[in-house]
Amino acid sequence: MSTLPDISFPRHAVVIGAGAVGLMSAIHALDQGLEVSLLDFNPVGSEEAASYGNAGWLSSHSVIPPVEPGMWKKVPGYLMDPIGPLSIRWRYLPRLTPWLLRNLASARRERIRATARALRTLVVDARTLHLDIARRAGVAHLIDTSGVLHVYRSRQQFEGDAFGWSVRRELGIQWSELEAEALRRREPDLDPAFGFAVQVDEAGHCKNPAAYLQALQAYALARGAHRIDARATGFRIEEGRLKAVLTETGEVACDAAVICAGARSKALAAQAGDRVQLESERGYHALIRGHEQAARARTPMMLSEFKVIATQMETGLRIAGQVEFASFEAAPDWRRGEIMRDIALKLFPGLPRDLPAADVRYWLGRRPSTPDGMPCIGYARASSDIVHAYGHGHIGLGCSARTGRIVAQLLAGQTPEIDLAPFSPQRF
Ligand SMILES: Cc1cc2nc3c(=O)[nH]c(=O)nc-3n(C[C@H](O)[C@H](O)[C@H](O)COP(=O)(O)OP(=O)(O)OC[C@H]3O[C@@H](n4cnc5c(N)ncnc54)[C@H](O)[C@@H]3O)c2cc1C
Repeated sequence: MSTLPDISFPRHAVVIGAGAVGLMSAIHALDQGLEVSLLDFNPVGSEEAASYGNAGWLSSHSVIPPVEPGMWKKVPGYLMDPIGPLSIRWRYLPRLTPWLLRNLASARRERIRATARALRTLVVDARTLHLDIARRAGVAHLIDTSGVLHVYRSRQQFEGDAFGWSVRRELGIQWSELEAEALRRREPDLDPAFGFAVQVDEAGHCKNPAAYLQALQAYALARGAHRIDARATGFRIEEGRLKAVLTETGEVACDAAVICAGARSKALAAQAGDRVQLESERGYHALIRGHEQAARARTPMMLSEFKVIATQMETGLRIAGQVEFASFEAAPDWRRGEIMRDIALKLFPGLPRDLPAADVRYWLGRRPSTPDGMPCIGYARASSDIVHAYGHGHIGLGCSARTGRIVAQLLAGQTPEIDLAPFSPQRF
């Protein structure tokens, strides 16, 4: 799909899915002069969207895919640990196996390097791009630009992550190191057992993803986008040209469409002629409210040991993480949310040990994840009027701003601003 398609204006694009990727795509498509309809069966900012409950990181250095060299040796240990970071519902294993095998194959050093190089082109400047859009939408206050921390118990523990940091260094990413005392001054509520941190200044975070999504949609609608409350089921394509998006309640006539339905994109991708490997990689958060005086994350913190992020949101202290493989529809396992709460108790000794249940809210989210850790962005096989834009896994909020810009370039028939070959939806 490398040749630019034959496109004429006016052009009406239906954006399927109003998560972070869809909203950014809609705004940039409006900038390109397209007529835009935002189609979603959930209200914007609903808890079903992964964009609702993430850890808020807009981190241009989050380029290391969530695999480690030699990971296959560690997986059994993770799975045996009932409070470990990874779980699989065994009934789901047969369906997951092809994805899992490709995922394990991508855990080689050279593959990780190549993935990091590609992801960097997508996520670089994430903070600046988000701040620009947030300003336009009137919510610049939701974007914090004061960096993030990666926290370790010790320098020795940090050195255990040396490969990932060396790849970041090769890409020109800079950081500074905080020894115990400096970390204590910066994060006085954190358990002093954590005595070393890496501070990345180029990252930022969103202080309230749900409010951000609502503001982005309000901005898109104010600029002329239409909102359609419906569930897309497929496409009507005639002689390679898109005529309509099909929904459960009828057709929406259009000349272009974007598939950005997050972890539900696979079936729509198949309708557009592409068999992609996409799983809902489930994660959880615990949001602790009302204890800001005793337990505050002044900077968003990634705790490498637990594979969780602690972010102080406008709405409370959010601890987010976990990887659980199960079908999209499988019931939440709220013990995984409680693990997030228990990690919060470990991190912040000032929290009451008998934290009242009413002060904690749990959430299950579904990351749209490909086995190689890279999203699908590009034209569909069945028609270049359809653009794929999903599969951003752990970094979809951060990536959404540039992805939206690229989607709009594709919709307008322009050469995209970065090389999309690594993100080809046809690579599987
Ligand atoms: C615990 C956790 C922590 C995370 N932390 C971070 C982080 O700190 N930083 C970061 O960058 N990323 C993070 N992520 C990942 C990030 O949240 C996702 O990658 C991103 O939100 C995906 O956005 P999306 O727009 O592709 O999908 P979604 O936000 O899931 O939106 C998809 C939308 O499509 C709609 N939809 C689905 N099917 C249809 C259909 N058939 N018709 C119409 N509409 C449909 C849904 O209703 C939904 O609104 C985290 C994820 C989790 C789970």
